[in-house]
Amino acid sequence: MPDAVKVGFVPFSSAPRGILVVFCDDTLKFGSTTSKALGAAAGMIKRAAAANQFKGKSASTLDFLAPEGVKASRLIVVGTGKASDLKDNDFLKLGGAAAGKLRPGNEAVTILAELPAGAMKPKQAAALAAGVRLRAYKFDRYKTKKKDGEDAAIDAEISLAVGDVPAAKKAFASDGHIVDGVIIARDLVNEPPNVLFPVEFARRASQLRKLGVDIDVLDVKAMKKLGMGALLGVGQGSTQPSRTVIMRWNGGRKGDQPVAFVGKGVCFDTGGISIKPAASMEDMKGDMGGAACVVGLMHALAARKARVNAVGAIGLVENMPDGNAQRPGDIVTSMSGQTIEIINTDAEGRLVLADVLWYVARKFKPKFMVDLATLTGAIMVALGTEYAGLFSNNDQLAERLTTVGQATGERVWRMPLGPEYDKQIDSQFADMKNTGNRNGGSITAAQFLQRFVDDTPWAHLDIAGTAMGAPKTEINQSWGSGYGVRLLERLVAEYYEGKR
Ligand code: MN
Ligand code: ZN
Repeated sequence: MPDAVKVGFVPFSSAPRGILVVFCDDTLKFGSTTSKALGAAAGMIKRAAAANQFKGKSASTLDFLAPEGVKASRLIVVGTGKASDLKDNDFLKLGGAAAGKLRPGNEAVTILAELPAGAMKPKQAAALAAGVRLRAYKFDRYKTKKKDGEDAAIDAEISLAVGDVPAAKKAFASDGHIVDGVIIARDLVNEPPNVLFPVEFARRASQLRKLGVDIDVLDVKAMKKLGMGALLGVGQGSTQPSRTVIMRWNGGRKGDQPVAFVGKGVCFDTGGISIKPAASMEDMKGDMGGAACVVGLMHALAARKARVNAVGAIGLVENMPDGNAQRPGDIVTSMSGQTIEIINTDAEGRLVLADVLWYVARKFKPKFMVDLATLTGAIMVALGTEYAGLFSNNDQLAERLTTVGQATGERVWRMPLGPEYDKQIDSQFADMKNTGNRNGGSITAAQFLQRFVDDTPWAHLDIAGTAMGAPKTEINQSWGSGYGVRLLERLVAEYYEGKR
């Protein structure tokens, strides 16, 4: 994997090396192994905590260089808050907070994975390790001159001292694959659009073959044959040919209905003839965040050999203004046979998804489809960057997504659908038009998608606010966040996997 930081597990009994990271709760209590390691330094920590108003709040830190009486070059104390309140997901944040204190360089780090009540559970230690890796991620492959401070990555060897090494390793074996999936998604979102165009994106997705994923790449000719006129209309103004990639992981029982994930992959969105303003247009390299998530998710499921049949499908296009580009007023015929009047060529993501959703629903008859798309600016107006917008025709699926959203911290907020919204996209010339009026823009976009899912249980996640450019967090300092990989991995693990 591309990240330089190496995370491993060692027993409590092994002597700490280099930098030492320890945890205390909101009463400044340490576990017994930690207290032993700190020895006489406990008094100094108490005094420093008082002087610094350090109260052990969750993910707050106290930092000591060359601490007297401790066998460490540096001591970092991380607060956990009230230990009895800690949920599994909080351990990700604690790992992130610890990694956030590390500076570039390769000095060894020992993290003592202990709470006041005793050793962290294997699941908690694994989450801690995952948090370290997610925080340490840095997309720096295009910086040829790395300044000592900010630009260099942390390439330290990080050891988590745990009570039960084999159990922690086992828990992290699975979590580590999920982190890899998140990192794959982040890398794809962060890549520049001159590097990551549809054909190159398809090539990268095809690398999942190594994990036993079946890959089918549909080129323009194949999509024409299928009648994917909605998707192809978007890409026709680009010199980069469009692609659809179908990824299949068959880890479940033979013949079991698959679960399906569909991603919008607009590798660059200028808006087309309805061109966008220049300000921040560069951000539109991230308009493939949905497709990036699906690739990262399929990696996670295949790498940890999930007992499920899963389909990932991504529509890859570039939306450019050109003599051959689609015009407002054009009418295209989608694979479903429904015709679409193009009102605004910048409402292109739904056109791409329309054909991919229809294709997946018909070809695989999945248990459900979840699509992810950086679809509308309107969802950011509604929800900011804290929640993705959730639209669904199925209450059970919506509730499950909401539950795993809370558990993983990748939260979703359900938005309405209904005939009053749906009629706003009726067209006077075709079966529908690709935009409604100004108000409720993320809802009419979802209504459009719903016209292509039939009765398949379906959820649409509008991730325009969460996939990229969201505020930095304890576990993400990257522009591309990889949002959705942990959410959907958990959805599968909780509700759709066969018993082990
Ligand atoms: Mn657009
Ligand atoms: Zn777009």
